[in-house]
Amino acid sequence: MASSFVDKVTITVKAGNGGNGAVSFHRERYIAAGGPDGGDGGRGGDVVFTVDDNMSTLMDFRYKRKYVAPNGMDGSGKRCSGKSGEPLVIRVPRGTVIRDKETNAVMHDMSDGKDWVVAKGGRGGWGNKRFATPTRQVPRFAKPGLPGEAREIVLELKLLADVGLVGFPNVGKSTLLSVVSKAHPKIANYHFTTLYPNLGVVYVSEGVSFVMADIPGIIEGASDGAGLGHDFLRHIDRCRLLVHVIDCSGFEGRDPIEDFDTINAELSQYSDLLAERPQIVVANKTDLLGDDREQLDKLRAHVESQGYEFYEMCAVIHEGTKELMQVVAAKLQTLPPVITYEPEYVAQEADSADPADTVINQYDDVWTVDGRWIDLIVAATNFEDYESRMFFDRKMREAGIFDRLEAMGVKDGDTVCLGELEFEYER
Ligand code: GDP
Ligand code: MG
Repeated sequence: MASSFVDKVTITVKAGNGGNGAVSFHRERYIAAGGPDGGDGGRGGDVVFTVDDNMSTLMDFRYKRKYVAPNGMDGSGKRCSGKSGEPLVIRVPRGTVIRDKETNAVMHDMSDGKDWVVAKGGRGGWGNKRFATPTRQVPRFAKPGLPGEAREIVLELKLLADVGLVGFPNVGKSTLLSVVSKAHPKIANYHFTTLYPNLGVVYVSEGVSFVMADIPGIIEGASDGAGLGHDFLRHIDRCRLLVHVIDCSGFEGRDPIEDFDTINAELSQYSDLLAERPQIVVANKTDLLGDDREQLDKLRAHVESQGYEFYEMCAVIHEGTKELMQVVAAKLQTLPPVITYEPEYVAQEADSADPADTVINQYDDVWTVDGRWIDLIVAATNFEDYESRMFFDRKMREAGIFDRLEAMGVKDGDTVCLGELEFEYER
């Protein structure tokens, strides 16, 4: 059953390759040899993530694991540039965290609702018209397009909710959410009715509202991956406050005190951070207690001795639920905002680009130097600034790029194209 809920998937994304530049010469009647007119290749399409607030699971990714953006078209004669590839837009629910598969580093958190480019399309190659100079009137070469970025990534849904409901199955979490918000979670008298997380907006008073998440019940051993709960705990990972619901009636033959301790043990096994998250405890189903308050008092003493606030309610008849929501709202005002994940990936990306992957090509007296490492270093350099230029120069030297050019026979005065940069070579 658990497998029917998808909140963590691995997919591959591949941006489009750049189109090739064209080698072409202007032809007209009565004109013997026209000038070069080969157009540039188009850019490859990016792969872009966008938030879709109508989505609440990563279900769509279950059967589609490969996302490939279109390539740029090749350039052609008459100075025609190739058409750029359209971006490929991938929709995800708000709160999806994107990680690099290889390093597990966070690349981006789709919480702020802004689009994010996960893989950049390759640049189109320059057509031969770009290489024409007074001394080189007949360039018979053009640049090939560069490959688009490709990577394997992990998508993980971590809902954006202020409050997360935790507790054993059947204690009344979904009932609570349904009576205090407009959410309509499935409620039934059997375990694991909630297979999908539900979000509800709780309106307390003018200007005071919050989002509460009902996730499937945690069961013992969940944090070891034994049951349903483990997969779902990630959803409450970033909640600001936990509301721990207990069935105080022991109606199903369970011990409320044991239940409470078990759930908290599960939380701390999953993560210390979750165990330390502020928690409010509420005993539900007080109607089933009858006149026997002893059990409830014992539970209260146990919970309070551990430093938690303790409340009572009877969710089905809305008793104590409104009061509880007021307490929750007041507590939230004292707590930091919802946790978002900072990217950990960018620095590693620059490090992992290898200068040895740089590709050098020669076309007469023009040299092209291309690769991811070059792109990153060119992008990081301010060529107006002397220090920055010197740094660039040193990096190139250290990476052996100049040695390679020399070994291949570059001469003073030749043109060197570094990514989109062009300069005259000088020893
Ligand atoms: P969840 O698994 O924690 O989401 O539990 P549900 O909200 O689905 O509730 C499980 C069962 O307990 C349902 O049959 C509810 O009608 C029932 N229930 C919820 N709250 C109360 C309550 O206050 N008193 C009683 N007697 N039953 C309740
Ligand atoms: Mg439920």
